[in-house]
Amino acid sequence: MRDYPCNLCGSDDLSEIVCAPTYMAGRPLHVCNACGMVQVAHRKTPEEVKAAWADEMYRADQKTRLSDTTYTARMPAVHARQTFAADFIDEAVSFRGKSVCDLGAGEGDFLALVQGPDYGAAEAFAVEPSTANCRLLDERGIPNFVGIAEEFIEQAGDRANSFDLVTIIWTLENCHKASDVMDAAWRLCKPGGHVAVATGSRILVPFKKPLQYYIGPNADVHPFHFSARTLEGYMAQAGFRKTDVNRFIDSDYLVMVGEKTDRTAPISWQGDNATAVLGFFERWDKETRGFYMEDGPNP
Ligand SMILES: [Zn+2]
Repeated sequence: MRDYPCNLCGSDDLSEIVCAPTYMAGRPLHVCNACGMVQVAHRKTPEEVKAAWADEMYRADQKTRLSDTTYTARMPAVHARQTFAADFIDEAVSFRGKSVCDLGAGEGDFLALVQGPDYGAAEAFAVEPSTANCRLLDERGIPNFVGIAEEFIEQAGDRANSFDLVTIIWTLENCHKASDVMDAAWRLCKPGGHVAVATGSRILVPFKKPLQYYIGPNADVHPFHFSARTLEGYMAQAGFRKTDVNRFIDSDYLVMVGEKTDRTAPISWQGDNATAVLGFFERWDKETRGFYMEDGPNP
């Protein structure tokens, strides 16, 4: 375990979100006083996380998958959010005829969806750290790289600067350094290409669920919590100019699309006010206690 500085702006000036350890098995959650990014600053190293995942993910695969050949049995909630993201991204930049690289592709459902007749992507490529998932991707005929985005970019060869669209679907919050993944996305996109990020992060929007359903004990594998402004900051820092964002205020999802720039001019971004973020979590904790916990009224 070690303490990391703010992954978005690099500042060491972080404040603890007071209520968070109650929901996160005693683990702290921090907000950056400089840019408002919410993150697990005290976390395992990538090597420790990878070792834990390789073991746990494999077991989870065995438990949750119905059979080696059944791909249609998917959780409705996951299917719904993938379709939501696909629809929004399609509206923004259109998949038709495009080459798409999905970072953290899982079992390939999102890529299979956008290659289907409704969206018409011409080419799909998966980057996925789980070897069990990559076996499934092979079976589905989806070319893939076994590893994380940061490893793929080291040996991408002529795949660098080649994709029309790089998608990061409910993955950016789960990686070790979101900034490294956004950098990899930039390197994989062709000039003028796009990145699309979808996440369930809910900072500075109305509370749609009790806080214990949002933050939990999985701090090491879910270190990042975005708002629209901090996600735009990640895009800007990596060299993507935000072009589209969904109406996230009353949706469970935040989906943002950015266009690759040549990085010759810095892109301005705003971030969040840390005091506002601290107040937001304080109110969310109070509402959660009031509406959802034993001693409060029933919802
Ligand atoms: Zn920061």
